Amino acid sequence: MKVAVVKEGAPGERRVALVPETVQKLSQGGLEVLVEKGAGDSAWFPDDTYTAAGATVTTTDNLYATADVILTVTRPDEAALGRLRSGQAVNRHARAADRPAPGPCPRGTRRHRDLARRAAAHAVAGPGHGRADLAGQRRRVQGGAGGRRGVRPVSFPLLITAAGTARPAKLLVLGTGVAGLQAIGTARRLGAQVSGYDVRPASKGEVESLGATFIDLTSAVSAAGEGGYARELTAEEREAQQAELATHIARHDVIITTAQVPGRRPPLLITADAVAAMAPGSVIVDMGSSPLGGNVAGSVPGEAVVTPNGVTIIGAENLAASVPTAASNAFSRNISALLLNLVSASDPDHRELKIDTTDDIQAGVVVAHGGEVVHPAVAKLLAADSANQGS
Ligand code: NAD
Repeated sequence: MKVAVVKEGAPGERRVALVPETVQKLSQGGLEVLVEKGAGDSAWFPDDTYTAAGATVTTTDNLYATADVILTVTRPDEAALGRLRSGQAVNRHARAADRPAPGPCPRGTRRHRDLARRAAAHAVAGPGHGRADLAGQRRRVQGGAGGRRGVRPVSFPLLITAAGTARPAKLLVLGTGVAGLQAIGTARRLGAQVSGYDVRPASKGEVESLGATFIDLTSAVSAAGEGGYARELTAEEREAQQAELATHIARHDVIITTAQVPGRRPPLLITADAVAAMAPGSVIVDMGSSPLGGNVAGSVPGEAVVTPNGVTIIGAENLAASVPTAASNAFSRNISALLLNLVSASDPDHRELKIDTTDDIQAGVVVAHGGEVVHPAVAKLLAADSANQGS
């Protein structure tokens, strides 16, 4: 079976789905690995490191013509979709907005469902472990990038010097899941005074275990959803949350937002009024930032915006791509483990994908197979789409 690694084409994407170290593991598992020329360049894995690991570096045309499975980090673009043929599998990273949730979906997620519709015989969405951890660390470092034009340089630790005392930076993390907790841990190690907030009650103990203060809102509701993730707040709950958070937001130097709800637009946590009430020179890093909208009013994906009152809002859409080597290593381990699991039931001398959606792991990741969308939640969303178009 031939497994191919493509060169990512999305703007700013520097990761690669498979690194040379993992090529060897796949080869040992009986898989032949093809690598598109230059696929690993921007993550600092040159072609010759893949060749040394036993892969064949090849052209785009040959790759799509001969591969059984395509590995990619981002959604294939139109040109790549046009090259896919029946029987080929695509194994990729699924972002929070792609994760299926019950009920209608925001408009922008339609293009991901469109991919499911157009998928060839199999389409497999892989998990994204490691992304949030790395991005959480990177985000905290970015939040502390004082000295940049428009950003008030704040010292993270308390400094007692002959020239006086500098108070530690006050940092608030909104959304304390995987990435938020990583950001809290890193900021604490650097000496900042850290607070955290989340809508899942379980996160309070996790925030406090890292030595940070949990912000309890009087308007708090439990918004624990399915699978450990949060549910979407109702309009009334959201308004109460935004109003109460605003008073806490105004007294912080740095705010990091990570809030996501699977299959939904990222929730708006910081309104334009709350930004306007912050001190000049404050920084907000919005990791919820996406073409669907972000956690912060006025954030622009991939850009740093300075508001009229001097607050810098960084639309940190894809921080994992800014640490491409580490992020590629983590993704590569995950995607190869998933792939080896998908072929494990096949003949060791003739490896092939064995799709079995009664298997718990496969049921969670296989989107389309044999021309049908087999993932129940995605199928439900597509049916709702068709019903809406018909009405
Ligand atoms: P996520 O990226 O979907 O969301 C980040 C955080 O935003 C979550 O903690 C969520 O509760 C919070 N959030 C959502 N709406 C909010 C709102 N209106 N206000 C404030 N916060 C809001 O989630 P995550 O970080 O991947 O993980 C959430 C939970 O799921 C954790 O307990 C984690 O251990 C568990 N989990 C995650 C993974 C994973 O691969 N990321 C895997 C298994 C379990």
